[in-house]
Amino acid sequence: MTQPDANALSLLPTEMVEACDDFSSALSTCSTLDELNRLKGIYIGREGSFSSRLMDALKKAPKEQKRNLGAVVNGLKKTWEDAIKVRQSELETAKQHLDSAKNAWDATLPPPTPPTGALHPLNRLMDRLVDVFRPLGYHVEEGPEVETEEHNFDGLNIPEDHPARGTADTFYLAQHSELLLRTHTSPVQVRVLKRLAPELEKKGGIRFLAPGRVYRKDEIDPTHSPMFHQVEGMLVGKGIGMHHLKGTLAYAMKALFGPEADVRFRPSYFPFVEPGCEMDVHCPLCGGSGCRVCKGSGWVEILGAGLIHPNVLRIAGIDPEIWSGFAFGMGVERTAMMVSQTPDLRLFFENDQRFLQVMGGLD
Ligand SMILES: [Zn+2]
Repeated sequence: MTQPDANALSLLPTEMVEACDDFSSALSTCSTLDELNRLKGIYIGREGSFSSRLMDALKKAPKEQKRNLGAVVNGLKKTWEDAIKVRQSELETAKQHLDSAKNAWDATLPPPTPPTGALHPLNRLMDRLVDVFRPLGYHVEEGPEVETEEHNFDGLNIPEDHPARGTADTFYLAQHSELLLRTHTSPVQVRVLKRLAPELEKKGGIRFLAPGRVYRKDEIDPTHSPMFHQVEGMLVGKGIGMHHLKGTLAYAMKALFGPEADVRFRPSYFPFVEPGCEMDVHCPLCGGSGCRVCKGSGWVEILGAGLIHPNVLRIAGIDPEIWSGFAFGMGVERTAMMVSQTPDLRLFFENDQRFLQVMGGLD
């Protein structure tokens, strides 16, 4: 960098001379392009910079000094501009090296960890139900999603003319008209009862949960889907009555929703139980004081249940004079929507990771 001679500098105000002296050291301390741009603004920017103030000094200088001073001013400006350009190019090169080093693959580093998935919120709710009932001696049973009419309807005491048997409500397999997509998890009851009937006396009874996917011809809307999930539960023993059903479910709801969760039972009808009931639980959101979810009543319907119809036992080869039991069935989506205040059922199936993360489905 060429320095202007001392005589020419003497024509400038003191602060300008100092600024010229400081330029080199200020330039060498610029270690980033941002810092360099700031320095550029101070020395050769349009307004208020040293160059523009030098131009002002030049304008105001006495006529006889203008020529000399002009040479000094132009020399300084060019020196600054050239030096800044050189430094800019050095810093740009350094930045490029740094960026490419950042993107470089280092074989000595451990491999990047891909994001870990987690169980879907509906599966987690089903697992929670299983965890509640397992200590009570219930094990998990599964059944096929393609079922026969015998298991899906006949074995459950559902009359021949019941509307659920129609093609308007149920998906039948086109090539095999006797096969259908199960409309509830209850055919698992029929299969398990038939399988375990011969050893019922030896085992002293049956207790199981049947979580699973079921299908109905429902239009998709915020509260309906042609595919959804249920958890079915069943207990068979000697002398089983409504008090066993009520005690078991009241315990389960407290285990699920907390010790404050009260339940109430209302009479209802299902062909496979007698008597049948529906169970409400104290709204888990407002605790019973009334809110939007429970529509101000403080109660939400949570499942259907009842004592197993003697015909269901008889069809499975179990003597209803000796054995009795209860069964219950719970909608998984309905419960998940209620607990999480999710207004639209479809969110559970759209696999939008933002929703799943909010639901705690992903870490
Ligand atoms: Zn409520």
